[in-house]
Amino acid sequence: MIAEQEKILQTYFGYESFRPGQKEVINHILHMNNTLAVMPTGGGKSLCYQIPGLSLEGTAIIISPLISLMKDQVDALHALGIPATYINSSLSPGEQQSRLQDIAARRYKFVYVAPERFDSTMFMNVIRRIPIALVAFDEAHCISQWGHDFRPSYRSIVPQLRQLSNIPVYMALTATATEEVISDIQSLLQISSDYVVNTGFARENLAFHLVKGRDRTSYIRSFLQEHPDESGIIYTATRKQADSLFDQLTKRGIQVAKYHAGMSENERKLSQAAFIRDEKNIMIATNAFGMGIDKSNVRYVIHYAMPMNIESYYQEAGRAGRDGEASDCILLFSSQDVRLQKFLIEQSLMDESAKQNEYRKLQAMVNYCHTQGCLSSYILDYFKDPIAGKNCGRCGNCVERLEKTDITEEAQMILSCVKRMGERYGVSMTAKVLKGSKDKKIKEFKLDRITTYGIMSAYTEKELTERIHFLVAEQLLATEEGQFPTLKLNHHSVDVLKGKRSVTMYTAPIPTSEEADYH
Ligand code: ADP
Repeated sequence: MIAEQEKILQTYFGYESFRPGQKEVINHILHMNNTLAVMPTGGGKSLCYQIPGLSLEGTAIIISPLISLMKDQVDALHALGIPATYINSSLSPGEQQSRLQDIAARRYKFVYVAPERFDSTMFMNVIRRIPIALVAFDEAHCISQWGHDFRPSYRSIVPQLRQLSNIPVYMALTATATEEVISDIQSLLQISSDYVVNTGFARENLAFHLVKGRDRTSYIRSFLQEHPDESGIIYTATRKQADSLFDQLTKRGIQVAKYHAGMSENERKLSQAAFIRDEKNIMIATNAFGMGIDKSNVRYVIHYAMPMNIESYYQEAGRAGRDGEASDCILLFSSQDVRLQKFLIEQSLMDESAKQNEYRKLQAMVNYCHTQGCLSSYILDYFKDPIAGKNCGRCGNCVERLEKTDITEEAQMILSCVKRMGERYGVSMTAKVLKGSKDKKIKEFKLDRITTYGIMSAYTEKELTERIHFLVAEQLLATEEGQFPTLKLNHHSVDVLKGKRSVTMYTAPIPTSEEADYH
């Protein structure tokens, strides 16, 4: 059966062969099996529903929360001579009505709609009556409450669709899904594990880098100087940061665009267009920017501050290099970022258990910023990707040769201090006790009376917190989740304390190549 689809690929789309996963997904759909496709950004998910949509009788309905992308997708299909349309709130009621009539008259092979469309009885009445080829949920992670961009209106479509008897097959597509999101989508759309096609998340053209302890703005200025003609996105954690960075760079005569939810719709539109059309190379934005931006030549994504979790980070950073060319993803980390993210979680309207889940994800993000292992591998491991564990050879941690030091004794001092403090305190209090700090709180809690008080006074508090974070990232020390995570020993800590396990840490980075110099 697939030979015919290969022909469609070549004649309609002009591509030689399928990319990994595409053939399997298409095959499952043609056999009427509900299917979930997990493929990296730029992996070619659209073809996975476009090709079966062309092969099967009837209209394919594509549901997407990305209104901005629908027009582009439809234009691209028109260019190939394929009848397609979209309906969303950007159209006038009259235009919506006339497109709806054309859908009822079965004029289209593809119809793109936003989730809200299913609230309309008129729309439901039309699709109830026409032959449907398939229903595809694009950005399917938005369906799951475990996803980082949960949209309740998206999830509520499923029971509505179940009332229709003319939907032969469902598919879900996403580039970001943890195990729990995958299983949530599976149970919601009744997708058997045999029909989950997960090509993994690896993006071989991306090089991840961490930058710590540098003035962020001056780092960005010198980076931009070295990459004057490249297109890139700089993500900030707040609108305020975006405004201030925008002002600082603009004052220095650097042409930058800006995008955040505090700007008017028109301002955002103009700004986005200037970036997409390469009139402005650099976009400074909050996470409001990017969902559905199909700009292929983004050469770097810099995070001005640490985002709230690995899912968001990978999705935002992954907007670099959609064309497959080598691109950089740089995260500028400062410990203040952790405080900001905790504040944002605390302020949110989530219930207590959702907050705990966010804290857990935040901790994984913080650990990323302290790991000394391969950064790509850390991310793939987080998503439980089967190829995790291999060093990428491209990221900052892989290309910088560092000096390895045995810190077993230091680790033992830190761990016994955590124990003596009753496993009731966090990183900074522990560092203060080890340092022998005169902080008021230390006296108040009588921590200056324990035997480990001041046993590492030769170190700076910064060196101590770095080592504690390192032990946490290496899972030699546990943290209790929550707003103020407390340090706790685990069975690995006990091994270290008993001398059954040694600990080594890279301490002095030595850049090995010119490429590593600027990071
Ligand atoms: P995704 O939605 O997974 O991020 P897209 O569907 O937008 O990715 O595809 C990314 C790019 O790759 C598009 O320009 C698309 O035309 C192209 N593409 C998809 N499949 C193939 C293929 N088999 N061979 C070559 N190019 C492809």
